Amino acid sequence: MIIAIDGPAASGKGTLGKRLAQHYGYRHLDTGVIYRAVAHALLRQGADLRDEARAVKAALELEPETLADPALKSHEAGEAASVVSAIPKVREVLVDFQRAFAAGPPGAVLDGRDIGTVICPGADVKIFVVADPEVRARRRAAEVRSRGEEADEAKILADILARDERDQNRPVAPLKPAKDAYLLDNSKLDIEAGVRAAIDIVEAVRAGRRRV
Ligand code: C5P
Repeated sequence: MIIAIDGPAASGKGTLGKRLAQHYGYRHLDTGVIYRAVAHALLRQGADLRDEARAVKAALELEPETLADPALKSHEAGEAASVVSAIPKVREVLVDFQRAFAAGPPGAVLDGRDIGTVICPGADVKIFVVADPEVRARRRAAEVRSRGEEADEAKILADILARDERDQNRPVAPLKPAKDAYLLDNSKLDIEAGVRAAIDIVEAVRAGRRRV
């Protein structure tokens, strides 16, 4: 089974993806990390994030082992990722890696922006996670602080709104729910309640009780 989870920045989709994978004993791929890694490589080289040739080269040279680098989790890496991810050729290079991951046994959970629409349009279950921007900014700020870094919540909110705008309006693979995705609004849910709601969706789909 393939479970696709999409949603905007800091919506909690990553945590949901990880927990769903643990619950079902599936492999998990946070696809945002791939774009973060490409952006990080460019930043390290001091290159322009819009430099298509360099970005494509970094995507082609991506080593799966580097995806665990904690530096990729920073707020800045996420912002930079949303710039390189808008380059169509970069996305093209990364499609096969993601599809190969999804296809392997025993099943996989992938979270990102275009999993249900572009990477795995035939996914068995698609969930589109949403949450109010203020809630997402508060959660992201708490996450940043938990790493011992300082967080300016107002700036994070502004960045999140700008990133939503960029991700939703890019011409290739824009952030949007697939037609057959289930919406999960976790603005008022804590992590455990969100995980339960996502499992309920998967179980209902598996039992054939839920139709779009
Ligand atoms: O989810 P995360 O915040 O790690 O993603 C960072 C950025 O990478 C997003 O803002 C988005 O621009 C890009 N991304 C994407 N497609 C994906 C996952 C992430 O374009 N499947």
